Amino acid sequence: MNRYNIDPRQEAIRQMAADFAKKYIEPVSKELDHREDPDRFAMDLYKQLGKAGFIGINMPKELGGGGRSNLEYITLIEELCYHDAAACLLCAVGELATYPIIYFGSEEQKKKYVPKCASGEIIPAFVLTEPSAGSDAANQQTTAVLDGDHYVVNGEKIFIMHGDVADLFVLFLRLKDSATEDPGVKAAHKVTALIVEARQNGQLVPGIRVKTLKKKMGMRAATTGRIWFENLRVPKENLLYEAGKGFRIAMNTLDGARIGVAAQGVGIAQRALDESIAYAKKRICFGSPIGKFQAIQWMIADMSCRIEAARLLTYKAAQMQDAGEKFSLECAQAKLYATETANFCVDRAMQIHGGYGYIGEFSVIEKLYRDQRVMEIYEGTSEIQRLVIAGNIMK
Ligand SMILES: Cc1cc2nc3c(=O)[nH]c(=O)nc-3n(C[C@H](O)[C@H](O)[C@H](O)COP(=O)(O)OP(=O)(O)OC[C@H]3O[C@@H](n4cnc5c(N)ncnc54)[C@H](O)[C@@H]3O)c2cc1C
Repeated sequence: MNRYNIDPRQEAIRQMAADFAKKYIEPVSKELDHREDPDRFAMDLYKQLGKAGFIGINMPKELGGGGRSNLEYITLIEELCYHDAAACLLCAVGELATYPIIYFGSEEQKKKYVPKCASGEIIPAFVLTEPSAGSDAANQQTTAVLDGDHYVVNGEKIFIMHGDVADLFVLFLRLKDSATEDPGVKAAHKVTALIVEARQNGQLVPGIRVKTLKKKMGMRAATTGRIWFENLRVPKENLLYEAGKGFRIAMNTLDGARIGVAAQGVGIAQRALDESIAYAKKRICFGSPIGKFQAIQWMIADMSCRIEAARLLTYKAAQMQDAGEKFSLECAQAKLYATETANFCVDRAMQIHGGYGYIGEFSVIEKLYRDQRVMEIYEGTSEIQRLVIAGNIMK
């Protein structure tokens, strides 16, 4: 791959990810793509990602992480995604769901949970979206009421990555107390985050039910779940940071995670381009490789320009995050542009491959097409990214 200004540490991580993908991901990629059964969650692969140090790569060393930069983390994500976006997502979700504890947890909470998340020993999930609160994330209907030393939680969540298999939830909800029930309080200021130990000895604790969502278009190595809470009791000390600060925790987490999704977009787009170049050189039509036709060359040229631009936006956002600068605008720009670039590139790749792109047994393009599509939806849709960008540059 042709990358501008990639430093030796990034290159070493990229190579490590490529070696890992060849050894552990490629042999199981097809089989995992056709899985639906939660008992067959890609547990072995998840554990291997943890063992390789990938899930915790940018988590603090003192908490069992690799202490690497966010730029190095997104280099890893880009390369894993190049090989298999769904397998990459296993790793990315582990990071997403642990981030709120690292940055907002008490010392005790960090020590208790982060090392186990970093190593892959336990599976965490980031539990924000509800049937009526997706883009409008502040509109939380799941509630918690304080009863003695416990919060009592009721409600429903949907589209939660690993929600059906996770051991630990970072759960966002609406706290019901005298302060937050005041009609003058904004919805966002009612959102509160709790850490929920969802399983004991592998079994769900009383008050939690889960279901695996079936017929998912792509990203099938990683499961997606629906969760119900019925009078779940959560110890008071599992409050994450402060009551009423959950929306800030969620948005702050999503800012960082959006750079990761941008890197997923770059990785899958690059794969689409490389597959297209190889195919254009070997497919003969009218006595000539199709790559000799200008129509095909133009598609390849357009793909390459967009990928380079998407990569630069993505690296820039990660560098700003590493430098401690404000990066809400840049992560939205990177996520929007890189995921739409991925869409553009997998679509062009399918066109270049003709019928051999549409049928999965002939090429990987059909899988790239299915895996890519959700990147423009999760962690904030493209429309929400445009709102964030316009809001930032027009204020
Ligand atoms: C596979 C998958 C994995 C996911 N993983 C997780 C997870 O781990 N944790 C989690 O909490 N959530 C997760 N999500 C949820 C995801 O973040 C939401 O689906 C997403 O935020 C969109 O919410 P929604 O589906 O309710 O769509 P809606 O919010 O109902 O949006 C529908 C359409 O309206 C548009 N729209 C909404 N508001 C506006 C507006 N103000 N201006 C313009 N357009 C607007 C949207 O862009 C979209 O096109 C996942 C989703 C999927 C599909």
